[in-house]
Amino acid sequence: MSHVFPRHCHTQPPVAVAGDGCFLIDASGKRYFDGSGGAAVSCLGHSNDRVTQAIKDQLDAVAFAHTGFFTSEPAEQLADLLIKHAPGDLDRVYFVSGGSEAVEAAIKLARQFHIENGQPERRHLIARRQSYHGNTLGALAAGGNAWRRQQFAPLLVDVSHIAPCYEYAERRADESQFDYGQRVAQELEEEILRLGPETVMAFMAEPVVGATLGAVPAVEGYFKRIREICDTYGVLLILDEVMCGMGRTGHLFACDADGVAPDILCIAKGLGAGYQPIGAMLCSDHIYGAVERGSGFFQHGHTYVGHPVAAAAGLAVMQELLDRDLPSRAHQLGQHLESRLHAMFGQNPHVGDIRGRGMFRGIEFVQDRDSKTPFDPKLGIAAKLKKAAFAEGLICYPMPGTRDGRVGDHVMLAPPFVATEDELDAALDSLQRAINQVL
Ligand code: PLP
Repeated sequence: MSHVFPRHCHTQPPVAVAGDGCFLIDASGKRYFDGSGGAAVSCLGHSNDRVTQAIKDQLDAVAFAHTGFFTSEPAEQLADLLIKHAPGDLDRVYFVSGGSEAVEAAIKLARQFHIENGQPERRHLIARRQSYHGNTLGALAAGGNAWRRQQFAPLLVDVSHIAPCYEYAERRADESQFDYGQRVAQELEEEILRLGPETVMAFMAEPVVGATLGAVPAVEGYFKRIREICDTYGVLLILDEVMCGMGRTGHLFACDADGVAPDILCIAKGLGAGYQPIGAMLCSDHIYGAVERGSGFFQHGHTYVGHPVAAAAGLAVMQELLDRDLPSRAHQLGQHLESRLHAMFGQNPHVGDIRGRGMFRGIEFVQDRDSKTPFDPKLGIAAKLKKAAFAEGLICYPMPGTRDGRVGDHVMLAPPFVATEDELDAALDSLQRAINQVL
């Protein structure tokens, strides 16, 4: 009997014993194509020599040096590289161990920024429904997924949630894409005015929504309007690119496609590419400057902040992404993926929507295509698809529909950028067999 506390108590997962390119191999020798990179993590696949060598070299040099006493070469170099390519005036990098920690740090820094600026009354965070920002209590409070929040609601701080930008389900037939985006962005201004602008601290959103909607980008103009509204009221814009950043959408940073730069940016998954747990919060010059000129101390920190081995892995990942121009490859392969998805599933009566950018794609399944009626969540369509695909040797990321019927069951694909077109085609054949079995 296993003593590991598993994600699902009633299933015993196979033991992963090896990684080979885009494949994971279990103890019986079965190979699985990592079609979702776990959860949009493994952008370089599972056997990148440059990254593993960098980790070994750093272990031989120094495994750990607490940031209360030291900085480290890989952390300094990785921060330089991130800032060189980061949007807007992002200027400082705070390293953490994962996505939720990056989000927690962002929320606390936003609060401290306003205090340093003499506006301690700014305390309200606004985020969006159908969003996911992590599972620690602050990040969970920011997230707008009812199911994940439900049983912990008494422990969560109050966060306002406005509409997501979810064109497939929410755009009215008489509305252009652009008008729809402006309408939902306007909800931010209304909420700021309702709360009182002088009390609002920040707005947080994922440029491409991952774990709750399945790779949903915003429509053109939405984020530009959001940026304008934030600027008008002195509200910080926090973009959470934990899932969609680091090249996944075909741009190094997902917000590049939307033509906006945040005040604070959170990244994680693709930063360590699964080789080490690492995340980061990047903040703009004026935010860091306020802390530097003010108290001179960010009231935050974990033991493993800036871990040298994690930073060495992140640095090697970043060098791989840049030297091999992998964001462009993610864009090109993403176009192949998109056209194959449409060709294979576009006419399927139970496929309502195929969406996403780059190597970040989602398929939403519906009972009725014309009315966009989702399946009854009790049928567990997404979970069944995950199981059937896994049996076929394909890892894809399932998400159940919501009980209010606004979002249907969907699966997300986020393969490594180093996959070949043939590997992607074979993976889609496996997905087709899984869909045929379930629907
Ligand atoms: N933010 C987003 C957008 C995510 O998708 C996730 C994880 O899926 C997180 C934050 C939390 O990251 P982690 O699981 O590394 O704590």
